[in-house]
Amino acid sequence: MQRLVLFDVDGTLLDTGGAGGRAVRRAMEEVYGTAGPVDDYSFAGKTDTRIARDLLSAAGVPTDTIDARADALWERYVAYLEEELGDGATRALPGIPRLLDQVEAAVERAVLGLLTGNIPGGARAKLSAAQIEFDRFRVGAYGSDHADRARLPAVAVHRAFRSTGRRFERKEIVIVGDTPADISCGESLGVKTVAVATGSYTRAQLAEHRPDHLFDSFEEVDAALEAILA
Ligand SMILES: [Mg+2]
Repeated sequence: MQRLVLFDVDGTLLDTGGAGGRAVRRAMEEVYGTAGPVDDYSFAGKTDTRIARDLLSAAGVPTDTIDARADALWERYVAYLEEELGDGATRALPGIPRLLDQVEAAVERAVLGLLTGNIPGGARAKLSAAQIEFDRFRVGAYGSDHADRARLPAVAVHRAFRSTGRRFERKEIVIVGDTPADISCGESLGVKTVAVATGSYTRAQLAEHRPDHLFDSFEEVDAALEAILA
């Protein structure tokens, strides 16, 4: 059986040391004059579109103003992100370089993809800072595709069909992520979920959401590969 393996970015593949949050704050302040209640807001598992709508709505910015300036926001965000990533703090998480190599080496059985709340330019900049090649991911679903993460798995499956001619379904689709939102987003498609406690949720917190497989980190590369491809 083939696999469509969809990796989340922040907390799963890499850690930017807060560069993403700093860049969003700067871009929102510049484009809208406010970043809303950003200090009390959890970014984990949320799409970039959702983050902007939540924070700006909470600050009283009308929806049509949010939408009208969204292109400017994301253009400024990527520019600030590249600047913030320049602090050199971004790292691939433990085991990730080897795990990606091994999933890719199983090419007969696996299509490597991204399923992330990041917009494509943000994902590309973060991966590049972590020295992970963006173009190795053949399929992607992003925060710019929909504000609601639960809508992204179907986008990824559709793009995988267009690029490979293969219709992946149910447990052939593997979602790998670090938050409850990653575990739940593919529920309606019956996907396999692999959770990892390298982001802002503990192993115990993730266990409550019953992923199919759960890891402290992907340093256990062989076990992770087995869970993904089994
Ligand atoms: Mg994440």
